[in-house]
Amino acid sequence: MKKFYLTTPIYYVNAMPHVGHAYTTTVADVLARYHRLKGETVFFLTGTDENSQNNLKAAEKHGYKDLNLYLDDMAAKWRQTFGDLDITFDRFIRTTEADHKKGVEKFWRRVAATGDIYAGEYEGWYCDGCEGFKTEADLVEGKCPLHKTAPRRLKEKNYFFKLTKYRQALLDHIDAHPEFIMPEGRRNEVRSYVASFMEDVSISRQTVTVGIPVPDDPSSVIYVWFDALINYLTGIGYGTDDAKFAEFWPADLHLVGKDIIKFHCALWPAMLMSAGLPLPTQVFAHGFLLTGGDKMSKSLGNVVDPAELAKKYGNDPLRYFMLREVPFGSDGDFSVERIEERYGGDLANEFGNLLHRVLAMTEKYFDGKVPAAVDGQVPEWAAYEKGMATLDFAMVLDAVWTILREANKLIDTEKPWELAKTDRARLAGLLYSLLERLRQVGWMLLPILPTSAKKLFVQLGLPDEDKRPYDQAKVWGGLKEGGILKKGEPLFPRLTP
Ligand SMILES: [Zn+2]
Repeated sequence: MKKFYLTTPIYYVNAMPHVGHAYTTTVADVLARYHRLKGETVFFLTGTDENSQNNLKAAEKHGYKDLNLYLDDMAAKWRQTFGDLDITFDRFIRTTEADHKKGVEKFWRRVAATGDIYAGEYEGWYCDGCEGFKTEADLVEGKCPLHKTAPRRLKEKNYFFKLTKYRQALLDHIDAHPEFIMPEGRRNEVRSYVASFMEDVSISRQTVTVGIPVPDDPSSVIYVWFDALINYLTGIGYGTDDAKFAEFWPADLHLVGKDIIKFHCALWPAMLMSAGLPLPTQVFAHGFLLTGGDKMSKSLGNVVDPAELAKKYGNDPLRYFMLREVPFGSDGDFSVERIEERYGGDLANEFGNLLHRVLAMTEKYFDGKVPAAVDGQVPEWAAYEKGMATLDFAMVLDAVWTILREANKLIDTEKPWELAKTDRARLAGLLYSLLERLRQVGWMLLPILPTSAKKLFVQLGLPDEDKRPYDQAKVWGGLKEGGILKKGEPLFPRLTP
């Protein structure tokens, strides 16, 4: 059976999740559900990056004397938020967990044995917010463009990873595997960084107290990024469960924000090469949800709480909005006004209302029973599947909404209320065709709007529809004559102000 292993970045727990975090994780969830639907063995990993000095500051600020208590509380809140958002992760990893530490130590020793770690002295600019070194070229007017703060000068004894040793191998891999870095614009950015700017990287800290100690040198801790990237291995058993690791590695997809693409497409593959492990198939970098032209971030004070949005609009509409509003890979503006427009137009009107009308007419003209089947087909499956395979969610949703819009148009042109008086056979065929299209739409929307799709199946009288094999379910004619429909509440009720 085919496997599909996908990951989100692991998140810093010095603040609560905002819509930007929910965005990455929701996209991952849509893909995880889609691949499960197709019968693949999916492993979906997300979690929290806890070995960060920033967490110590946050713990102190919130009055915690014990960092571990703070981390436990925050990790629980993140986990809860993702649970509330219907995120179906297979593991929520925390980098303070024992199996992760064990795997990181194993990895470090493996890379050291290759001869790729050496001791040296580092001096350079360091952004505390990013927990990363910055070159002059990274700075805008002397400041970190993301945190809008000036980096500080740092000088200490560090262990270095021989990143430059892998320059040519990385370039060769990028050129031979165009699918490795997506979208294409990011590939060019990473390629030029690897070719012209990449230097050896410091992978330990002396002045930092939080983190996993360097094996055989407890005076230093492992740099948080070096430790964090390894979660993609330890999350599936590297160092602790060889069989599971062999089943799922290499990852099929790392989803990342565009700000961390270099870590994932230069440092990470070089680390894997050094450790003698195969590289992930694809790293896909998405854009940011912007508010007022800036990336959402705690330090800029422009964050939106996804739990509150979900409470007001529901999980499905929030998921829909995130996939629909912003072309995946680009930046896009986030606003409550646009959510409400999408809710009222695309969801309530074009989708929910269509279902309601078709069920009401079948109730009225055929006692709420599915009329005899007629031939038909939904050609949009090809575009839908291509969109899912290439993470082109605009293509996916266009395919679905093409079916919905055509169905709405069909009602306007065929005028079933007139056919009821003149041509019962044609009316029966029309309603069967509309109901069957809705069933197929339900399948397409299962990964995206899981709650609404299941409600739709219930209303079509098929409560166990989502348990059928995908390949059979896609075939026209799933609705059987005489099936009893069960018109219920509108899928997307009017919003209360
Ligand atoms: Zn920064």
